[in-house]
Amino acid sequence: MTIVTRFAPSPTGFLHIGSARTALFNLLFARHHGGHFLLRIEDTDRARSTQEAVDAIHAGLEWLDLLWDGDAISQFSAARHHADAARTLLEEGKAYLCYATPEELAEMREKARAEGRSVRYDGRWRDRDPAEAPSGAPPVIRFKAPRQGETTIHDLVQGEVTVANEELDDMVLLRADGTPTYMLAVVVDDHDMGITHVIRGDDHFTNTFRQYQLFKAFGWQTPEFAHIPLIHGADGAKLSKRHGALGVEAYREQGFLPEAMCNYLLRLGWSHGDDEIISREQAIQWFDLDGVGRSPSRFDMSRLTSINAHYLRRADDRRLAGLVLGSLARKLDGKLAESAADRIIRGMPSLKERAKTIEELSESAAFYAREGAIPIGDKAAKLLNVASKGYLADLRNIFGGFEDWNAEALERAVRAYAGARQDQGLKLGAIAQPLRAVLTGSAASPPIFEVMEVLGRDETLTRLSQVLDGADAKC
Ligand code: GLU
Repeated sequence: MTIVTRFAPSPTGFLHIGSARTALFNLLFARHHGGHFLLRIEDTDRARSTQEAVDAIHAGLEWLDLLWDGDAISQFSAARHHADAARTLLEEGKAYLCYATPEELAEMREKARAEGRSVRYDGRWRDRDPAEAPSGAPPVIRFKAPRQGETTIHDLVQGEVTVANEELDDMVLLRADGTPTYMLAVVVDDHDMGITHVIRGDDHFTNTFRQYQLFKAFGWQTPEFAHIPLIHGADGAKLSKRHGALGVEAYREQGFLPEAMCNYLLRLGWSHGDDEIISREQAIQWFDLDGVGRSPSRFDMSRLTSINAHYLRRADDRRLAGLVLGSLARKLDGKLAESAADRIIRGMPSLKERAKTIEELSESAAFYAREGAIPIGDKAAKLLNVASKGYLADLRNIFGGFEDWNAEALERAVRAYAGARQDQGLKLGAIAQPLRAVLTGSAASPPIFEVMEVLGRDETLTRLSQVLDGADAKC
């Protein structure tokens, strides 16, 4: 049997990180078994579905490299087919026309609530003669759900769960205006798409018993179900806005790498021994539903950040430079040095060791992107006094005639300068720190001789002169 899974988001907002995890699990399960992973946009709710949200889902999935097979399917586009399916059940006596008015339904709801029952619709049109239908009132089509017996779902995560059929409503399949309900559309689509495994959040688990009965009524094979516990915040409450960003896009903007995001989401609810860092290839090799836990997992920002730092250190320098330059161009209002890209690529091996996110990386790389005057931070400015400026002036003279502009030679020269003044108590750090302040505007940076090599002689001398000749820009 070929495994077929699907990710079925409703396009009503951004791509939620919980949904992204659902998509990931569906993709991994399909790939692990050599099957297909499909995308179905559940856009039946016309009032709430927007093209913007569809675009956000596509963009989020593409960014995370969760690519589906074939074309994305629009649920709404099959609405007529869904309606036909409801009429087929009607003809077969497995569904019926219901003319209950909104007032009657409200009354039934009230009564059920007062009696503490979950079933709200009392089935008053279930066996009534259609000849009694009021004229001019368009009916809905309701499912004739079984009233006796039980429905048992062997969920691949939740285990075996049984519900008495008397707990299940005669749900509406087709509204009075002829539009299909979500419950009907999901079942028909899952059948049409040949879905073998429905893997989704456990907020849908209660729907499953009704959907199962609908599959049976159509005479279709039911798929396997796997309901994944939802993601909670660090405080144990269901993840909500107050816990931070909920949309995938926000994490992208905050400077997280997609592979780090996927690795983190994979571990959020699924485990493979104690493995933390898991590549996509390994995940495909290892993923199965046995590894999905039954209790909700907690979203932990510091864990995500440290996984991101791991992937950042391993990421290609050019790719990182591209990401950093985009955000720097925005920050510096497009005023990037001509050689900004070249410098950042060359400086990247050291820069990426010190950053946990792209945001941090671009912050620490900003001094490479500027030309000439750089803002000098308060901490760095404190390193510049009469004595240190005296040393820097000497170094400017040495560097001016320096032939061999590379980190090792520069270090040798500066060490020799400090060594010659050892008897005055001069240490390398007392020179290197002011040098760092002038060249990077900060008291912390990659190794300073490497910075000088990357900046080049002209830029190094320009920055020294700007401070020594009093034209430095303070921030
Ligand atoms: N459209 C539903 C949602 O976004 C998912 C339905 C399903 O996976 O069956 O929550």
